Amino acid sequence: MTLTLVHRVSMPAPATHLVHVETEITSDNGCLPDEIVLFMAVWTPGSYLIREYARHVEGFAAEAPARATKIRKNAWLLRTGGCEHASVRYRVYAGELTVRTSHVDASHAFLVGAGLFLGIEGQENLRARLEIEVPQGWRATTSLAPTRGTSGGDKVLSFEAPDFDTLVDSPIELGPHRVERFEAQGKPHRLAVCPASALSDTDARKLVSDARTVIETQAMLFGAGLPYDAYELLLHVSTHGRGGLEHRSSAALIVPPSSFDTREAYLDLLSLVAHEVFHAWNVKRIRPAGLTPYRYGEECYTRLLWWFEGGTSYYDWRTLALARLCSAQEYLDHLAAEIAYVEQTPGRLLHALEDASYDAWIKLYRPDENLANSSVSYYRKGEVVCALLDVELRARTAGRATLDRVLAHLWAEFGVPQRPVPEDALQSVFERVAGVPLGDLFDAWIRGTGEIDYAKTLAHVGLSTQRVLRPEAAGCSLGLRVRAEGGRTIVTSVVRASAAWLAGFDSGDEIVAVGGARVEATNIDGTLRGRAPGETVDVVSVHNGRLVTRSVVLDPARADRFKIVCTPEASEGARHAFRAWLGQDPPTGGST
Ligand SMILES: [Zn+2]
Repeated sequence: MTLTLVHRVSMPAPATHLVHVETEITSDNGCLPDEIVLFMAVWTPGSYLIREYARHVEGFAAEAPARATKIRKNAWLLRTGGCEHASVRYRVYAGELTVRTSHVDASHAFLVGAGLFLGIEGQENLRARLEIEVPQGWRATTSLAPTRGTSGGDKVLSFEAPDFDTLVDSPIELGPHRVERFEAQGKPHRLAVCPASALSDTDARKLVSDARTVIETQAMLFGAGLPYDAYELLLHVSTHGRGGLEHRSSAALIVPPSSFDTREAYLDLLSLVAHEVFHAWNVKRIRPAGLTPYRYGEECYTRLLWWFEGGTSYYDWRTLALARLCSAQEYLDHLAAEIAYVEQTPGRLLHALEDASYDAWIKLYRPDENLANSSVSYYRKGEVVCALLDVELRARTAGRATLDRVLAHLWAEFGVPQRPVPEDALQSVFERVAGVPLGDLFDAWIRGTGEIDYAKTLAHVGLSTQRVLRPEAAGCSLGLRVRAEGGRTIVTSVVRASAAWLAGFDSGDEIVAVGGARVEATNIDGTLRGRAPGETVDVVSVHNGRLVTRSVVLDPARADRFKIVCTPEASEGARHAFRAWLGQDPPTGGST
């Protein structure tokens, strides 16, 4: 028996954020199975958190004579009565604008399949038709294939998804957004910008031109053209943060309105574009076994996010450098900032990269005040480690092996044939490409928690590192991270093993005075100026509503910035290796 599945979507009152969905199942031989289990995903690939999308479902009901009974938090048992067809109706509240949640209001609709559409248990490969009734004047941008022949006229847009994976993997932007079309490597691309007025014509043209350069540079890295037939960048310009979510043939991006104001902000936007496009190869087609197949009702674990996210982060900025969209100096400044983050994260000494990857679901995606003390971002340490692996590969093989070669190899061995990457395969793939053992590096950087000797590796490309203090920093430190809240200074986290940690401070404490001086906003440094490490100072705080005075023995100031500097006496060989690595000359002037 073959089933036909149709999802009908309407938004009769978009300002209420409610999406109305009707799911109809029809049998081609006259009667449906007596019982069908319908489910909604609890997470969406690329975002490793159980989001419980079904919590936004309301008014779930089957059309008589069929009956629906909820049997799990995200599943319903449909008793069809053996009819030829059955349908269920429900509404979904879509009030959160992020790249992984649907958002509907009077101005537009962004539809994310994972939190909107039902799958049929055991029939995840079933083709589905999607019919969307849209307000007058709205259009759709999505990687789903449009279909013809719906009865609703122009107001109903119709698409087809070959399976549930594709339905979940194809977000849809609906509304009066701006659409820019361009070609890269002979394939059609669209940039959808919402709201349409968010970009000037000049900014839109520049972004399209630079996105094309990014895409073509990455296609060259993989050496086999683009892996998709067409691609959509769905860009939301919003004050709701910054982020991206990768899909096989599209990406959802959200960036702040200031993204075109400064060079720094624009490079951040371009790196986000480069990151999500790179994922079209790395994670969407070169896929870790732990994420294959996607199991939508539970966590899918992988130890390889240090590569699939960290490696992708390495290649986003590296793409900008190779394409000369950023200078070598800008690239090194970015890498130095990532090293500074790792160095300021005490959790790096407790939680190995591959374990941080495995625990993404309960650590990185559920951050609290203890996260930096107990774990490290597999994005950011992963990026640093991938940069160092690239340099080491080149150094150990006299430039013969590179991470780019590893990439091309992964594409040929796993991406093209669509074979999942075994969880223990990466070291052996790297070693096969390099022809030299790399176990020491994998042990130390990926499976281990020790300090990393950045300088030793960066010396191969004529660079050295410096730890520097912010110009406004005091010469000593308490070891507190704080935020201003209504004119008060509130502790957000206490750095493990710092002066404040040893003295017993807690996140949530209010810092009132240091050494008799009132703390203004977040300016603790201002109260420490003139004092020395080892000195004891009284700190007045409010803990749980009570005034507390603690004596604190001050730490040396934490070097919270990092500089990567070109070594003046670097050999010509090292300078040549730098050029081979970044595709640009080392910055002149000796330092970044
Ligand atoms: Zn990513």
